[in-house]
Amino acid sequence: MADDGHGGFQEDNLLEPVVRPDWPDCSSSEFEPPIPDALDLVVETASLLSIVTAQQFVRIDAMRREALAEAARNGLTLTDVAERAVRLELAAALAVTESAAGAMIARADALVNRYPAALDSLAGARITPGHAAALVDALDTVESELLDDLVPRAVTLAESQAVGTFRRHLRALVEAVRSADIADRFEQAVAQRCVRVLPLADGMAELLLRMPAVEARAIMARATATARVLAKSEAESRTLEQLRLDVLSDLLIDGDTALLPPEARGIRPTVAVTVPALSLLTGEHHESPASVEGIGPIPLDRARELCGGARDWMRVLTHPETGVVLSVGRELYSPPASLRRLVKWRAETCMAPGCSIPASRCEIDHTVAWEHGGVTSLDNLAPLCKGHHSLKHHSRWCVEQIEGSGGALVWTSPAGRRYRVDPERRVPAFRVVDDGSPPPF
Ligand SMILES: [Zn+2]
Repeated sequence: MADDGHGGFQEDNLLEPVVRPDWPDCSSSEFEPPIPDALDLVVETASLLSIVTAQQFVRIDAMRREALAEAARNGLTLTDVAERAVRLELAAALAVTESAAGAMIARADALVNRYPAALDSLAGARITPGHAAALVDALDTVESELLDDLVPRAVTLAESQAVGTFRRHLRALVEAVRSADIADRFEQAVAQRCVRVLPLADGMAELLLRMPAVEARAIMARATATARVLAKSEAESRTLEQLRLDVLSDLLIDGDTALLPPEARGIRPTVAVTVPALSLLTGEHHESPASVEGIGPIPLDRARELCGGARDWMRVLTHPETGVVLSVGRELYSPPASLRRLVKWRAETCMAPGCSIPASRCEIDHTVAWEHGGVTSLDNLAPLCKGHHSLKHHSRWCVEQIEGSGGALVWTSPAGRRYRVDPERRVPAFRVVDDGSPPPF
């Protein structure tokens, strides 16, 4: 970039100033300026980092375009050579690798030219550089005709969620929007199924199975469940990871579980399949596709097969269904299996702010502790990972469940900040509907 004597600073590159809609009315006589505490000062540096990062992207993109125009003026018609020259220029100036410089240029190009709403949000410190990166990574994989619909929804999500949660939700949103043609895509993908052996050093190899995600999860779940049973034996010294492999190896080579102790035999995986009941009945495509815990949408035909046949699939229908225990009140401290499953299904991950540990590996916490009169019911239970569970009990963080919210928690920090964490899903209202017709399932 040409030096204009002010370190390359150009007035027209500046983004709009930050306006916080929730700033207090400073003109009122009641107004007392807040005194920033130590945490406020940290938060302020994070906001500055967002603002500066946005500015950096704007400048990188301007530099790229200037350099490409310059190259064209000098008769260089090979765009990739010109791009490479820009990359080297940036890498050398910032003392980073060329691939890091290339990634910055690509991200700057995406934010400035394709997702200006996200850049604006970063410049206003409403999202972090991490959110911006996740947004670009996810949206760049999407067909361009879907972007008009997706970009504003992605920015709104980014502004309301911690980066890990946002990444997961954005992936689900992208999948839901693309699921209109999921049956075709699945059919093409499943035709590519195969098994490969990749040799490794020291007499080892990797066995790769490219297969439908539902079955892959089921295999992993069965291996894990069997390995956990074996690990309970006092004489067992293998790790869970090693046991899982040995179980699979025995099953694939010998084809049976006779070598396993009786209690580890015949374990079947449970995978929760969520199906909007109406689409299951009519076969029509609805706004919310069928989906599988931890995987995302699957073709409706597959969901119908899974729900209709095997008893090992846990069906969660977004439709009135009877028989699920939602509360056992003060009768039982430990929730029954169906209620535990429902609590973990609803949240999908630990319910601490920003935590991504899957609910299946979490403990179930009574939000109002049992010893303080808390009940064992859906609206007083939430999955928390071991770390956050113990933090809740042994620190000054305070957690409440919002009444009528369908399981949302509010975490109040020792510094007095409040964070709302919403579960991934709504549990449908379970009502008995008897219109005389036989149950469809
Ligand atoms: Zn956690």
